[in-house]
Amino acid sequence: MVDRIARKVLDGGRVDAAEALDLYRHAPTHLLGHLADTIRSRKHPERIVTYIIDRNVNYTNICVARCNFCAFYRQVGSSEGYVLGFDEIFQKIDETIAVGGNQLLLQGGHNPDLPIQWYEDLFRAVKARYPEFKLHALSPPEVLHISRLNRVPVPTVIERLVAAGLDSVPGGGAEILVDRVRRLLNCYSKASSDEWIDVMRDAHHAGLRTTATMMYGTVETDEERIEHMMRLRDLQDETGGFTAFITWSYQPEHTEHGGYEATGVDYLRTLALSRIVLDNFDNLQASWVTQGGKVGQLSLAFGANDMGSVMIEENVVRAAGAAYCMDELEIVVNIEDAGYTPKRRNMHYKILGDPIFRERDVPRMLSLATARADGDTSVPEELRNYAARSRARKTLRLAQ
Ligand code: SF4
Repeated sequence: MVDRIARKVLDGGRVDAAEALDLYRHAPTHLLGHLADTIRSRKHPERIVTYIIDRNVNYTNICVARCNFCAFYRQVGSSEGYVLGFDEIFQKIDETIAVGGNQLLLQGGHNPDLPIQWYEDLFRAVKARYPEFKLHALSPPEVLHISRLNRVPVPTVIERLVAAGLDSVPGGGAEILVDRVRRLLNCYSKASSDEWIDVMRDAHHAGLRTTATMMYGTVETDEERIEHMMRLRDLQDETGGFTAFITWSYQPEHTEHGGYEATGVDYLRTLALSRIVLDNFDNLQASWVTQGGKVGQLSLAFGANDMGSVMIEENVVRAAGAAYCMDELEIVVNIEDAGYTPKRRNMHYKILGDPIFRERDVPRMLSLATARADGDTSVPEELRNYAARSRARKTLRLAQ
């Protein structure tokens, strides 16, 4: 059975869910790698591996969603909760530009005290100061949160955010797109599977390109992992709006859900399977932030053609125990040691050039920056411009 399915894949055929499950359960790891690598080299025969220099900025850690796999969020009113000020974000952009970056990946918690005008004002302010700089911002559950909070339909939220400067949408918050799993992870109410897909469809219809993700290794079955991939493949058939797929394993430390992290072998098998199933996705990222540089390098033989982002700042998976860090030089060395040519790209996977440190002197970022320094509880001045919605913030406002 596995041989027949492998032959079908090598002949360019599309696997169905039952065939994908057979491969995942029964194919030896080297065969899965071979199939995924064959597809990757068909799509990317030039042996280039890309990466992007951008910065992952989490504008707030205050969140009402309370997903039980998340170690990053703080409840409304927590003394550890923060919202970044516009000036802090500008400073992060300045630092990103200094190391050759061209984009922020901007995501955050579902903060009830940030109305849609806060996002619009921020995006407009960024674009006024940095017209060429890109905003890859607000995953589908954040878009839904803004829609619900402001009672504005999702397509209108997207339209308004695009008018303010939104360039593309990251695929976060997908976890596993199966409602049984989402209920168990307490993330069904932030976005059901259909709602996540619908926001992405709306974004694609509005002309935005987006990525897609999968966080595996919690409570899902093998069948549910594959169902997730099938939902993405169906939407990609319909809209063609996804630029890339990224999968990472659940990071259990400090989370309410707890448990264990999936193995590196499971990661490579899952990555390879996603390359086989997602035959309409051009790009697959290696998740070295959760797997480390060496498994990240091995990912290039299991279907990945991109090393993702040079990590200048990371807060979310680090809060849950992942602490891998590579600057551009290390990413480039990993790519070259694996026998590929490294190239810088933008969010649309357009090649921008060779490694920036070979073109000019750039500061190396050896230690990861965080959103906020420990103990910094300052409240940005401009937050006063927006009406407080939560009881905690209203009380604080009265006391100020
Ligand atoms: S994963 Fe996102 S939405 Fe869920 S609790 Fe964490 S910050 Fe909130």
